[in-house]
Amino acid sequence: MERGFGSMPAENTTFDLSAAGLETGASAEFELELLLPPLQLAGREYRFVPDRVKARLSLVLLEAGYAVSLSFSFLLTGPGWRCLGPAEVALEVTAEEFIAGGAMGDAGDEEIPTPYLDGNLLDLSAWARDVAAENLPAKLLCRQDCRGLCSQCGADLNAGQCDCRPPADPRWEKLRQWRDEG
Ligand SMILES: [Zn+2]
Ligand SMILES: [Zn+2]
Repeated sequence: MERGFGSMPAENTTFDLSAAGLETGASAEFELELLLPPLQLAGREYRFVPDRVKARLSLVLLEAGYAVSLSFSFLLTGPGWRCLGPAEVALEVTAEEFIAGGAMGDAGDEEIPTPYLDGNLLDLSAWARDVAAENLPAKLLCRQDCRGLCSQCGADLNAGQCDCRPPADPRWEKLRQWRDEG
């Protein structure tokens, strides 16, 4: 039941699909409090603030299974990728998943079970965390024009230029030699 973005605490928000009591063709919506577990990205930990948000879960029971969607907003905080200074991103996401089988209990061969389902229990927290991770911008930065750290001395270039010089280009070295000799 893991999908790469971190571990799953026991207090995860889950939803019992059978408790919804839907008949085929029927739909239902639920407002719930959703726990958002910390997220691991490139070996670093990112946290949702707050880690409990309001979410809307909607279910439709079809012949072949449940069509499920989950909507929520979040604020994720953690180290920016260039300078490791504090970065945050706020997003509103809607996740959709089809859960084969449903009340029919008849998952065919070509139907892929959702990784977030254990029996009738849908792990909303694990699902929400992965959906948040998949919707993040390509780079999480403290600010759009973050200058990052100097690759030579590690100084934070946002605080000012360090004394390092870029490595000399060998072609210019040759020219300089030629000029100095001539
Ligand atoms: Zn930065
Ligand atoms: Zn430097």
